[in-house]
Amino acid sequence: MILPIRAYGDPVLRERAHEVKEDSPELQKLIDDMIDTMRRANGQGLAAPQVGQPVRVFVADLRHAWKSLAPRDRPEIPRQPMVVINPEIVEASEATAEFDEGCLSVPGIVVPVKRPIRVTLRYLDRTFTPRTIEGFSTVASVLQHEFDHLEGVLHIDRLSALARARLRPQLRKIEQGKVETPYPMQFPKDAGR
Ligand code: ZN
Repeated sequence: MILPIRAYGDPVLRERAHEVKEDSPELQKLIDDMIDTMRRANGQGLAAPQVGQPVRVFVADLRHAWKSLAPRDRPEIPRQPMVVINPEIVEASEATAEFDEGCLSVPGIVVPVKRPIRVTLRYLDRTFTPRTIEGFSTVASVLQHEFDHLEGVLHIDRLSALARARLRPQLRKIEQGKVETPYPMQFPKDAGR
């Protein structure tokens, strides 16, 4: 089932998401719906808060990012899309790199974001099997972007104050629902309807 994606301005995007305590049919359904929604929106990643669920789950389709890497930098990605539950960043490099990032919750705003160029994530997959992934470059960027969502952080928060100030009119429009997206969204003004 395709779920509407919560837009910038929705308080759920600003919450720290809760740990997943146990498996349940509801959780598995949420994961399936998130995968459908990410595909429908043609996204590289989607975190549960973006569909209104403040839990520590994200899905990512790393094929695109993976292809842009040299073969030696490609992590083992056994299955796509990747499902990540209760992730922890166990290592992040001091070296940083800047990549353009967009966000399904902040449509139309693609901005260069500087992040550690290499991160190691420990997480549970959808069968609750512990896994580790070491992401480099664009893969690291996607993993950190989605991880940030679980902390209530958006890519625009990582810009300079000046860069953010420049985006303010555009952000205001998103908040007010004055944007067109090729996928269903829910805007703060729709809340409680
Ligand atoms: Zn995002």
